[in-house]
Amino acid sequence: MSTIFSKIINKEIPADIVFETDTILAFKDVNPQAPVHILIIPKVEIPKVTDIIVKEHDGLLGEMIDAANKLAKEMGIAEDGFRLVFNCGDKGGQEVYHLHLHLLGGRQMKWPPG
Ligand code: 5GP
Repeated sequence: MSTIFSKIINKEIPADIVFETDTILAFKDVNPQAPVHILIIPKVEIPKVTDIIVKEHDGLLGEMIDAANKLAKEMGIAEDGFRLVFNCGDKGGQEVYHLHLHLLGGRQMKWPPG
């Protein structure tokens, strides 16, 4: 089932897009939890981590990590450190069922994450 992120991919609703290729999109989180909070998503609809088929999606996942590293450098948080998060399912805190990698940085992260 399509989510609000499909509307962002299709440019039906606005988002602050910071990176785009044919296969992935990165945009600022509308409700940032850190000075830098970017969502990196595949354009193809994969609802959640447990729907990833590694043999099929490994290239896509690599592109998402590459994008995270590139954006972390651009945002000036690569050296200090940052956090990458996939929330999966209700107890994982997932709200939008279109796979997304959170890139969070610009402040000290805590553990446990809560
Ligand atoms: P989840 O809890 O599913 O891992 O994260 C979903 C994230 O998407 C949340 O951090 C939320 O703030 C963000 N989000 C939800 N709707 C929108 C939207 O319409 N635009 C943007 N830019 N972010 C959104």
